[in-house]
Amino acid sequence: MTVTARNNHSVKAKDNDVSKTSFLQNGIVAGPKRLYTLEEVSGTKYFGHDHILTGYRTGLTTKECLRSIFQWHNETISIWTHAIGFVYVMSMLVWENFVTIPRYHGNFWDHVIVSAHLLCSEVTLLSSACCHIFGGHRSPEVRGLSLRLDLFGIFIGVHGFQFIILYYGICDEWYFYTHHVVAWSLFFLNVAVEFKDDEVGQTQDAAVLKRRITLTALQWGYGAVPIVHAICSNGGLSHPTGQYFCQRFLGVVFYSLACLVSYTSQLPERLAPGWFDYVGQSHHWWHMMVLCGIINFNNSALDFIQLRQKVPCS
Ligand SMILES: [Zn+2]
Repeated sequence: MTVTARNNHSVKAKDNDVSKTSFLQNGIVAGPKRLYTLEEVSGTKYFGHDHILTGYRTGLTTKECLRSIFQWHNETISIWTHAIGFVYVMSMLVWENFVTIPRYHGNFWDHVIVSAHLLCSEVTLLSSACCHIFGGHRSPEVRGLSLRLDLFGIFIGVHGFQFIILYYGICDEWYFYTHHVVAWSLFFLNVAVEFKDDEVGQTQDAAVLKRRITLTALQWGYGAVPIVHAICSNGGLSHPTGQYFCQRFLGVVFYSLACLVSYTSQLPERLAPGWFDYVGQSHHWWHMMVLCGIINFNNSALDFIQLRQKVPCS
């Protein structure tokens, strides 16, 4: 509470350091009145959007960032895709716990596992929306903090998938706990690396970005191990249960690859710089793929509840 109050005080003090309507940054007067080009905001952005040429906010106070939720700029779609997604997933959480899982005669752990995945996803969506809301903040500390929050959301969102894969897919207790230990270790490794350096959230340094992508890919990629294990330990591709798991996990693989491509390729804006600044840039597709991946795997979890009633682990 004290730390939060101190941080709020620090942010307010930074807001008051300069005029409320204008802010000198990179030699330009920035503020809420207009949007800026990539060249003008160079050094203040952290997504490496080399091909997004216009529509940037910069030099905003906290209030102006919040007001910009309802303004049209190159992060408006990024904010709203995950803000609406957050509300939708919240409604899924309530509906499934009170209607769907009881209708399927799910037990206590079915509620826990489905809820754990959806709650992790909620953190992902909310932290992502917040990151984009404060992406144009005048304070590098606030921008760095919001980026860290976004990264934490990605780490915990990826981890949330493991609850379902391991609970329904891995029946052997030793392997169940071993996979959990590895998955939790990779999650904490990512969090520790990203949060250890004060500058890491603010930098555009290529080495930091490369390390970030590598560690995230390691955590994400490890998800393939229990997936393959679950298929093999449930009879493999020659057995109906193994086939069922394989079919359901194909959705995770598809959306994981779609997320990876949309996040790293900078397509389609790479092909036509400036054409997709406001609608259709790769980051908008990345957001949509994340949301679709969450919904798809939640549907699989509901199928697994019914499967385990027909084919129990024991
Ligand atoms: Zn984003």
